[in-house]
Order: sequence, then C-alpha cells, then structure tokens
Amino acid sequence: MKSQDIRKQFLQFFESKGHLIVPSAPIVLKDDPTLMFNNSGMAQFKEYFLGNATPKSNRIADTQKCLRVSGKHNDLEDVGFDTYHHTMFEMLGNWSFGDYFKKEAIDWAWEFLTEVLKLDKDRLYVSVFEGNPDENVPFDQEAWDLWKQYVSEDRIILGNKKDNFWEMGDQGPCGPCSEIHVDLRPDAERAEVSGRSLVNADHPQVVEIWNNVFMEFNRKADGSLEKLPAQHVDTGMGFERLCMAMQDVTSNYDTDVFTPLIAKVEEITGLKYTSNEIKNISEEQNKTNIAIRVIVDHVRAVAFAIADGQLPSNNGAGYVIRRILRRAIRYGFTFLGTKEPFIYQLVDVLAAQMGEFFPEIVSQKDLVKNVIREEEASFLRTLDQGLHLLDTVIAGTEGKFVDGAKAFELYDTFGFPIDLTALILREKGYELDEAGFEAAMKAQKDRSRAASEISKDDWNVLIPGNVETFEGYDKVENEVKITRIRKV
Ligand code: ATP
Ligand code: MG
Ligand code: MG
Ligand code: MG
Repeated sequence: MKSQDIRKQFLQFFESKGHLIVPSAPIVLKDDPTLMFNNSGMAQFKEYFLGNATPKSNRIADTQKCLRVSGKHNDLEDVGFDTYHHTMFEMLGNWSFGDYFKKEAIDWAWEFLTEVLKLDKDRLYVSVFEGNPDENVPFDQEAWDLWKQYVSEDRIILGNKKDNFWEMGDQGPCGPCSEIHVDLRPDAERAEVSGRSLVNADHPQVVEIWNNVFMEFNRKADGSLEKLPAQHVDTGMGFERLCMAMQDVTSNYDTDVFTPLIAKVEEITGLKYTSNEIKNISEEQNKTNIAIRVIVDHVRAVAFAIADGQLPSNNGAGYVIRRILRRAIRYGFTFLGTKEPFIYQLVDVLAAQMGEFFPEIVSQKDLVKNVIREEEASFLRTLDQGLHLLDTVIAGTEGKFVDGAKAFELYDTFGFPIDLTALILREKGYELDEAGFEAAMKAQKDRSRAASEISKDDWNVLIPGNVETFEGYDKVENEVKITRIRKV
C-alpha cells in the first residue's frame, strides 16, 4: 500500500468512527512560549485538555507535521544513523475530548492495524503502565484487561513512568499510556529470540509505532493526583514507521515517503544509496548512506518550516532551521562531494509527493527553493575554508579536547553552528571544549555591549537596521546587532 493511501485509510477509518478530520497545525508555533515547534499531535489541542477552549467536535483525527530537534524531544543526533527517527515526521492521531476512553481507543487501534491494514498480529506487542506506588499512580488494569481480549499475556509488556506515563508538565493533565510496537525481524530471528525482550530497547527492527495516552488524572501543585472530571484520549502514530511496517521493509528510508527523494539525490550526485536489506556494505558506502539519509530527512524539516513561514535566521526558531540546513549541506559537501547548491532541487520532488495533502508545500514552492538555494550558496562560500581551519586546529591539538575559542572563531567567522563543529570533531575522534566556546561567546557579547555604550570621539553607534548592509556581519551567527563605523 502506498504511503498516500495509508494516510487516507487512517483518516477515513476515524471519520467512520465519528471523528472530525482537521488539517495539521503549522510546524512552527508562534504563540506558545513553552514550545518552538510542534513536536506532537496534541500541541494544537492543549487548550482543550486544559479546559480553556472548546473543540469543534469531541472526536478529532488528523496528521500533524512534527519536528523533534529541540527541548524535551530532540532526536537530531539519531537522524541518519538510525532508520526510524526523523527530525520532521507526521504523527497520525485520534482524539477524544471528554468522550470515548480506553475501550474504544484500544478496540479501534487494534481494528485499524489488524483488520483495515492487516498487519500481522504475531508481530505486534503492546505495553501497559506498571504503576508507581511511590507516586500513588495505579497499575493500568483496565488497559491490561482490554488488550487481553486481543493478544496473549506474553505480548503485553509492563512499562515504567518514562515510557508509559504522560504528563503535560509538573502540574496539570496526565495519565498512563499504552504503546504498540512492531517486530519487523525475519521469521528465523523472531523464532530464536522473542520480540518481547526487544521492546523499548533501541532495536532498529522492533520499534514503537503508536502511543495511546489516556488522560485521566490532574497533578496538583503538591504533587498529588486527582481524577479529572472528564477523561480524554490523545494518540500519536508515526506515519513513516507505519509505512515501513506496511511496505515490508526495515527502514523508513526504504518506504515511498523517502525513495523518490533518495532517487533524486542519486541522480544529482551519481552516487548510489543501498537499501537496508543489503548487508555487509563497505565503510565508504555506509558513510554515503548516512549522508543521504540526513539530507533527505533534513530537507523535509527545512522545507516545511519555510512553507509555514519560518525563514532561516540567526536566532530562535529561525536559527534551528538554519542549523538543520547547514548540517545537511556539510554532509553533502564532505560525504557526497557536492560543492554547489543542490538540496533546493529536492523541493520539487517533495512538493509532487506531499502536495496533495499539504498544499502549502506547493503554493510556497518557489519561495522554499529560493531560500534554500541562497542558504546553500552562502554557507558553501565559507564551508571549505572553515573545514580547513578546523583541520589545522585539530593538527595543533594535543589530547582529545579541542579549544572552545577556536570553535567560536568557526562560528563567528565561518557560520559553523556549534553542534556542527561538535559533530565533525566526533567523527574525527575529538571532543569539543564547550565551556571554552561559551566563554568566548560571552566575551564577545560583553565586548559588543561595552562598545555600544562608549559611543564617543570619532566613532558612531549604528542603529540595528543598518547593520544588514555592513558586509562583515552578515556571516555572523550570534545576536550582535550593533557595530561601529569610523566617521568620515
Ligand atoms: P521513540 O521511543 O521511538 O523515540 P517516542 O516514545 O519518543 O518514540 P511518542 O512521543 O510516543 O514517541 O510519539 C508517538 C509516535 O510518534 C511514536 O510511537 C513513533 O511512532 C513516532 N515518533 C516519535 N518520534 C519520532 C521521530 N523522531 N521520527 C519518526 N517518528 C517518531
Ligand atoms: Mg523519542
Ligand atoms: Mg518511546
Ligand atoms: Mg512513546
């Protein structure tokens, strides 16, 4: 089944169960001080759970564009190295706002996966919250009993607070969750070692696909729990992982969500990507594969963020987007040999593939392409020099720790985000002295603050708006906005 159809099946199924289908909220959040990007389906419904707003329907379903690159959920470091964590991904979700609860949620999740999609029941595991007497949270007997109708006890796993209890914050709505995991290993391997022991153990082929959260408690300021007056359901299923399970592959990148993008990178670079089914590849090929995965992942994050109005910039959410794009550019430059802008060309493929469901990627296509191409061109101008400088720094480094002040120079002069420098160093077996970097950054801020205070003799303070035309500063990554010019 094609990914487009899998998404449609999900929405149609929940529509048939009385859910209102709503569009994804933007990936970038502009009015939530606690969150920069949508990182789960529930973010746009938060106010409903808190009782501050009333939903249009008490049953809603959708697919939400999510980004997990900052804050509590940051998967960036895994992306490209594993085959099932992305920066940007879609989260399919169904919600009950004070309407149905555990029974319907579990019945429907099972019906959808095993009857509509016909996933093999023998490959599925479920988890249930084990309870936590210290915090007075009970074992989720109800979910256990509901699951027992469908799966044998050896397929039900008891989960701890980390994996199976959801809280909005220190206070507020919370409750146990029940996850569904799929075991995609070959039959022989499954016969030898039960998937049970591999659930939630970072096994690349035994992965979590769906999380069902049952909001039934309110945590009070003193830490105690009380029953919520109305109970809610919040579910989230990783769309790309579901596609992997449905398309008989063992990597999200081998699904049709990613293969057209990968084919385009192959066409541009003349290199080949090898699917996850091909084993014993060379070290060189492995590096190529990682770089291609990073690029096809990152372009989605960047393109959707720009289409939603978030341009790359030097601070806040814009800097997160710039960092992701620079990370992709560097992977191309170092491992695929791409010395010219090329990532922007992937946007056509993305728009053709996702446009039917996310029209913004089509209507904003030209803007997205132009912005990415400009960003690529600008970073490529300094990347090579920066990498040379880094090599020189490494050559002069005794031991394994690289001077943070040098990393600051790379950041300041060559536009290397600090996490990119750290990543390159790790690849070469070095570590970054982060404290040194922070100190150099602070010293520069102090200097510019002091400079802006002096303003006398033959020096003038420029107002911030003029700085953009000052050539030396458009490469600068920090927030220094004031500089001085000599009066003539
Ligand atoms: P994992 O344990 O695999 O990191 P999670 O428990 O952090 O997942 P949830 O917060 O429960 O994930 O999100 C709901 C679903 O979204 C998951 O079951 C998974 O299918 C999917 N998902 C979570 N993070 C990612 C990601 N970075 N990329 C792709 N899908 C993801
Ligand atoms: Mg996670
Ligand atoms: Mg998990
Ligand atoms: Mg989870």
